[in-house]
Amino acid sequence: MLQVKNLSFRYKKQLILNNISFTVNLGDHFSIIGESGSGKSTLLKLLYGTYDLDEGQLFWKDQQILGPEYNLIIGPEYMKYVAQEFDLMPYISVSENIGAFLSNFYPEEKQERINELLDVVELTPYKDVKVKELSGGQKQRVALARAVAKQPEILLLDEPFSHIDNFKKQSLRRSIFKYLKEKNITCIVATHDKDDVLSFSDHMMVLHDAKIMASDTPKALHDNPKHPLVAAFFGEFNTIDTTIVYAHQLKVVKQSNLKAIVIQSYYKGNFYLIKADLNGKSVFFEHNIRLDIGVVVCLDRIE
Ligand code: ATP
Ligand code: MG
Repeated sequence: MLQVKNLSFRYKKQLILNNISFTVNLGDHFSIIGESGSGKSTLLKLLYGTYDLDEGQLFWKDQQILGPEYNLIIGPEYMKYVAQEFDLMPYISVSENIGAFLSNFYPEEKQERINELLDVVELTPYKDVKVKELSGGQKQRVALARAVAKQPEILLLDEPFSHIDNFKKQSLRRSIFKYLKEKNITCIVATHDKDDVLSFSDHMMVLHDAKIMASDTPKALHDNPKHPLVAAFFGEFNTIDTTIVYAHQLKVVKQSNLKAIVIQSYYKGNFYLIKADLNGKSVFFEHNIRLDIGVVVCLDRIE
């Protein structure tokens, strides 16, 4: 289990994380979300031992994770960290990068492992290409493969699919997260993307104003977001009479007290997102066809 106890940290004057405590169970997939600048990357760097804490303690199982004041080499042996700005060795091949930390003592096993990982990140056709010739998304996949190559006990991922196109993202995400579960690798993911969280995370934590604003299973937070910030992570939403209602929870009905005037229709593929005016405030709902600007509709909550 990873234990974070009363962690506080500031880069200079500004408090970035203020008395944060949480635990992550062995083998769990744990997501950290929050607005840009809320401290997600900072927290991952602290978990990796990159900086000394101002206050608090970190433990992995019964070992304390200590910062540079106590360690010459940053990053414990059992942990790997894939930074938002992944750094690879540009002049050697994809395979060599993935195998960079693997022992040369068993060359056959090493090659098998590299091949397995090339397959997981779908880079087999690029195995002999020099990393400097890869795109940003391909480099990110090499960084992911290299991080899991030595089977760390715990893996820290900072926006792991941010550079990867939508064509590949879905399958890559399933393949990486399945791999981590199978190997029982605990993983902590900082992300902006609800699709990294909803189907995969055992637990998610929301950072705001240097504190933990919410912490629960993705389903619990999705189904009952107590804060607009949490709802905003999952999708378009409205606050009607102090209740948070997602756009997909509102429908057009024949008669109701909620009368709205259509402002705009946005095509979303299998539905239209409609922006309308409800008593001087914007309201968003989903509808199966485009609605003309100025049309008056009655809205009701889908139960
Ligand atoms: P994003 O979603 O944009 O990646 P984040 O949640 O990861 O954001 P952090 O990178 O942890 O945010 O940054 C948190 C705060 O700390 C920001 O206000 C940022 O400006 C500040 N900060 C980050 N790195 C440093 C640094 N090396 N020195 C000083 N301040 C920093
Ligand atoms: Mg970040």
